[in-house]
Amino acid sequence: MTDVDLFEAEAEALERANTVLASGTQELTRYRAALEELVQNYGQLMRQSRRLISRSDRTERELNQLNSRLKQLSDELEYKARHDNLTGALNRGAVFESAHRILEKSAMSVIVLDIDFFKRINDEFGHPTGDAVIRELVNRLRVALGDVGLIGRVGGEEFSILLAGMALDEAVVLAEHIRQAISGELFPCLPSRPVTSSFGVSWSVAGGDFEDAYARADEALYQAKRGGRNRVEREAA
Ligand code: GH3
Ligand code: MG
Ligand code: MG
Repeated sequence: MTDVDLFEAEAEALERANTVLASGTQELTRYRAALEELVQNYGQLMRQSRRLISRSDRTERELNQLNSRLKQLSDELEYKARHDNLTGALNRGAVFESAHRILEKSAMSVIVLDIDFFKRINDEFGHPTGDAVIRELVNRLRVALGDVGLIGRVGGEEFSILLAGMALDEAVVLAEHIRQAISGELFPCLPSRPVTSSFGVSWSVAGGDFEDAYARADEALYQAKRGGRNRVEREAA
């Protein structure tokens, strides 16, 4: 396949003008004809160049817009992959991943909590009310914690709070504060009865195994349920 010369017409005009120049002819008309042809081709080249430049500017702008949209979409995807739809808390996978990362560097307390008799709330008031209770509960966790800790939804109505660098005693006090923030004031979406939850708290050294720390907190939570619910228990000494 032969290459197509994009500037074939212009090259020919240039060559003809060169030939006229080189001939040293005295005929003015031949110079004029060559000049006219050059002027015409020059003007056309300028128009085409302008069009190309503005088209490439537009393409660059469109590419930039596409790029930032792609970045936005990938951020959204990453957010969705790590967060729970209903509450915006970390999902179970993200909780475990975050916990492993924290424990690589520091000690950590973990609080696990589970809503008491949640099945009854669903049965008596319907699933949408159950969902609203879950959302309100996470809001109360956020308010109670401020900027301390990472909140995760590890199961349907089970949550965890990761507290990097926090001692067990301090985490138990915090869990008690959260317990009161949940049970102390009626939920607007469920005005006829208080919502309560039970808590288990454990602590792990830096480098410790999160699955083990989680199991100890879960066992303490089980004790809180057995002990009558709406209470905080710490891991066995
Ligand atoms: P306990 O005090 O022992 O924890 O009793 P419970 O009734 O809270 O415990 P159980 O595990 O029997 O019930 C949990 C219920 O949570 C069962 C399930 O239908 C409900 N559930 C799980 N995920 C969701 C959800 O996303 N929305 C709603 N509305 N309900 C959910
Ligand atoms: Mg429950
Ligand atoms: Mg449960």
